[in-house]
Amino acid sequence: MTQYTIPAEGLVAKPAHELAAMIQAGEVTSREVTQAFLDRIAEIDDELGAFLHVGAEEALAAADKVDEQVKNGEEPASALAGVPLALKDLLVTTDAPTTAASKMLEGYMSPYDATVVKKLRAAGIPILGKTNLDEFAMGSSTENSAYKQTKNPHDLERVPGGSGGGTAAALASGEAPLGIGTDTGGSIRQPASLTGTVGVKPTYGGVSRYGVIACASSLDQVGPCANNVLDTALLHEIIAGHDEFDATSVDREVPACADAAREGVSGDLKGVKIGRVKQFERPGTQEGVKEAIDAAYAQLERQGAEIVEVDCPSFDDVMGAYYIIQMSEVSSNLARFDGMRYGLRVGDDGSRSAEEVMAATRGEGFGAEVKRRIILGTYALSVGYYDAYYLQAQRVRTLIAQDFAKAFEGCDVIAAPSVPSTAFKLGEKVDDPLAMYNFDLFTLPLNLAGLPGMSVPAGNASDTDLPVGLQLIAPAFEDARLYRVGAAFEAGR
Ligand code: GLN
Repeated sequence: MTQYTIPAEGLVAKPAHELAAMIQAGEVTSREVTQAFLDRIAEIDDELGAFLHVGAEEALAAADKVDEQVKNGEEPASALAGVPLALKDLLVTTDAPTTAASKMLEGYMSPYDATVVKKLRAAGIPILGKTNLDEFAMGSSTENSAYKQTKNPHDLERVPGGSGGGTAAALASGEAPLGIGTDTGGSIRQPASLTGTVGVKPTYGGVSRYGVIACASSLDQVGPCANNVLDTALLHEIIAGHDEFDATSVDREVPACADAAREGVSGDLKGVKIGRVKQFERPGTQEGVKEAIDAAYAQLERQGAEIVEVDCPSFDDVMGAYYIIQMSEVSSNLARFDGMRYGLRVGDDGSRSAEEVMAATRGEGFGAEVKRRIILGTYALSVGYYDAYYLQAQRVRTLIAQDFAKAFEGCDVIAAPSVPSTAFKLGEKVDDPLAMYNFDLFTLPLNLAGLPGMSVPAGNASDTDLPVGLQLIAPAFEDARLYRVGAAFEAGR
């Protein structure tokens, strides 16, 4: 079994916060650090397939700027200045193509940077390149990418999860110490779980979606990814905050994630109540995952936390509600890809009408899963079905939010498995969309409720020897709790 996990030594083995400190202390330059990750990419990425585009020159130029500031004794631009990052190719950038892993956007160059990208640049974070994903972020294995197959660094015959499999694989292989993902129904937490990395979906509205190609707008959130909890906390603070270009972004103070993570490092969880959701104890869950999660609860208890059972009956209906709402929003959001404005245009030979060109472009430009969702979503929103499907799904969504609210009356944080099994084999579920959808069962509820969640490594499953993720969920705008408990759990392992 070939593995491309993080090398034991060298710059690429170090956490981002350590690299940042070394850069500020003048022990190493940002150029050297950035080059080390670029070398790792050059060494393994042909086979691993995490990146759709590598921007070595641009990354090194950004690194040089940080080195210049260090040399001049200027204040660091951020706590992670000089440490490079892998960006999911769903966020638009002016200096690299943005494809959303779709043929539809082949050759598309954005005239502007996403707000999160602007913030990263201002923070002195060199962007190594754009990472692979399921087309338009729809999928659970990155197998829906129109360009390449990303593999799981722990076993190259297995999927890295999805949709953000590229970012997760880059982190788990030492190609990058920091990453950005987006999470509509689990696309940050699920790949984090499958690759043994940390991924956080912030509270809806906490991070700007401006310049993030829309999947399902009422569910999408951008979030930080890394190999340890503190690094995600530091990155969270850099990318979060109000943005007038995103009407759903909230005007509140950015949560104190890093302080919470530092507090958590003591490992002490006395007085913390952790909820265990009854509806998540499901027969279909892999034995090794169950064991690892049981061990996680036991560890949290040893660290002083109290585990309480919480009842969330509406979670049994989460699959149907999520996929109806997700597909409905997709059918509307993806209408803009018509061959007229962005990227691909097919059959425009002067003899065809605009409508024919649109149909030809959409027919060729979208992959099977995207088409399936556009068709089902359009159906769910059509006259006569809207009430039966879409409105019904919105009602379930309300019940899910109410179940969470009730659960949090009795606990501070909920802990659950991130995913029902460890990484599956490439190709195993491609012909079975329902099995693929089912894989997201545990990550979906909080997107519907807008709550923050984290996946933090919980060891390997004894039956497959592959990573398992513990999912932590907090009430809206209480993202800091995830970092407190996540860092404590990480420290206690
Ligand atoms: N796997 C889920 C889906 O296919 C979630 C995707 C995501 O979070 N972007 O919709």
